Amino acid sequence: MNVDTELLNAIIDNSKDAIVISDANNSILEVNVAFIKLTGYEKSEVKGITLFNVCYAESHTTTLFESTEQITKEDSTIQYKSTMRSKNGEAIWADSTTHIIYDEYKQPVLYLTIMRTLAKLDAQCNQGVRVNHYDPLTNLPNVFLLYDRLEQTIISARRTGNPVSLLTFGLDRFTVINEGLGFHVGDMVIKEVGARLEKTIRKSDTVARLAGDRFCLVMSITVANDSVVVAEKILNAMNEGFLVQDREINLTASIGISMFPTDSEDTNTLLLLSESAMRHVKQNGGNAYQFFSTEMNEKARRRIEIENNLRTAIQYNEFILYYQPKVNIETNAIVGAEALLRWNKPGGGIVPPNEFIPIAEESGLIALIGQWVIQRACEDIKKWQEHGVSPVRVSINVAGIQLRNKDIITQVKETIAKYKIAPNYIELEITESSLILDPQRAVDILNAFQEMGVHVSIDDFGTGYSSLSYLSRFPVNTLKIDREFIKDIQENKNNAEITRAIIGLSKSLKLEVVAEGAENVEHINFLKAQDCTTVQGFYYSRPIPPEEFEKLLSIGYIHI
Ligand code: C2E
Ligand code: MG
Ligand code: MG
Repeated sequence: MNVDTELLNAIIDNSKDAIVISDANNSILEVNVAFIKLTGYEKSEVKGITLFNVCYAESHTTTLFESTEQITKEDSTIQYKSTMRSKNGEAIWADSTTHIIYDEYKQPVLYLTIMRTLAKLDAQCNQGVRVNHYDPLTNLPNVFLLYDRLEQTIISARRTGNPVSLLTFGLDRFTVINEGLGFHVGDMVIKEVGARLEKTIRKSDTVARLAGDRFCLVMSITVANDSVVVAEKILNAMNEGFLVQDREINLTASIGISMFPTDSEDTNTLLLLSESAMRHVKQNGGNAYQFFSTEMNEKARRRIEIENNLRTAIQYNEFILYYQPKVNIETNAIVGAEALLRWNKPGGGIVPPNEFIPIAEESGLIALIGQWVIQRACEDIKKWQEHGVSPVRVSINVAGIQLRNKDIITQVKETIAKYKIAPNYIELEITESSLILDPQRAVDILNAFQEMGVHVSIDDFGTGYSSLSYLSRFPVNTLKIDREFIKDIQENKNNAEITRAIIGLSKSLKLEVVAEGAENVEHINFLKAQDCTTVQGFYYSRPIPPEEFEKLLSIGYIHI
């Protein structure tokens, strides 16, 4: 069927719902008349800009961005409720559906977003249309009541001269709960979170649910430190663990804080700033709180830039997989390697993984990137074999969010079959913190890997607060001691003790142990004395491109 373009445009423009068409980078290509009426923006003002930059709505973009990649497999639509902000500052509560249009390679090429307005805060209130002020799931105030309460609190603060503190709260990696365990479980967690938050504040303060896992707290306080006390109380309350349908779920949260009048006197700006501070906490690993500071704006801009560029990085061949040898401390023989991702960003040089992996995780792009890494590592191993070099076991880092999706099992299985690689040449490195998020699920997935004959190691061991009882439940082969412990092993007695303990522990549990981050001969001597045989670190070699690694591998050991 051929529908002519003019007719199509007429249909879109006659729609009562706002429609936005964006490209693969989420940059707006087209908007319809209803969108212009709703938001007050002209077409020329929004073209080429991402929806994020047009309408302030963290919840909205997060949902849009976070869900796109993760849902590709099952579905090509995302539904969400969101709050947006029109050009004149009006809050719009909308029910949206984004349709993802894919190309033949299953890469998204267009996003078609249809937004149905549920309520406009100011306009509809004035017309007497009753806007629901409470969130049906948690029974807490919703975004509308939040604005109202924030304004009221500020008005009385102007009289009393007391500061007001605004806390934005978000769960760390909540999407993995929703994606992995289902929205029903997600809803139960949110309900419980709401209840715990309510318990941390005074009756006169407000806790509201914005959308998804986002909550806001408004407090009239006397000194800034009062917000610290509450933030700490909240973090502790979250650390208690959640029991949902007999499942134990461990969650952490991030909190951003902005203050009236020091940061701003305007409600919208205060919300933006505390949200920005919260994002900052998330980027630094979460489970903490932070006050807003001006450098954060710059960071937020860079984050958006990275996220946009990451979307096309695979297509444009911008990723490279480097390899860092694991070495036998006695013989200097190369006994394995870790595959480490590098991003050659055009005009931006090599971007280190710590700068883009967390963003890839938050946006869901890690699923595609992770798949690329598995594929490329297998391709490289095959190549070395074909060149007559006997390969070693290569470990691949797997992000926690990849584990939430059982696809990872099929992905690994299919890729090793495709390249005809013996499974014991592959090891998956999974961080301790991502295993303990949902221990039962982790055990199931790890068992599947063990059955396949693929090795598994716990990365950054010693940093994830898991108890020993968890450790014995996880079917793994290797513990990797985090390099933070090795770094100052000579001066820091505690770290030396921890390293010693992890080596001892792995021996008694009959696990292999690898020490990471050995940089100098003192590190090596210490590890030798502790009977740690496998070591990875700059002392032997930095991560190097595959061709260089192949040369090293053909020699078979590191010449120091
Ligand atoms: P990791 O998995 O713990 O990787 C080890 C990191 O330690 C690497 O940093 C490596 O270059 C660094 N390292 C090794 N020896 C030394 C040393 O002697 N001194 C110092 N200062 N550093 C050393 P890199 O390549 O920057 O990667 C950082 C993190 O990014 C990795 O930590 C891993 O968590 C993540 N990452 C890297 N590649 C991937 C990937 O393909 N997928 C996922 N999900 N994460 C990845
Ligand atoms: Mg690793
Ligand atoms: Mg590590």
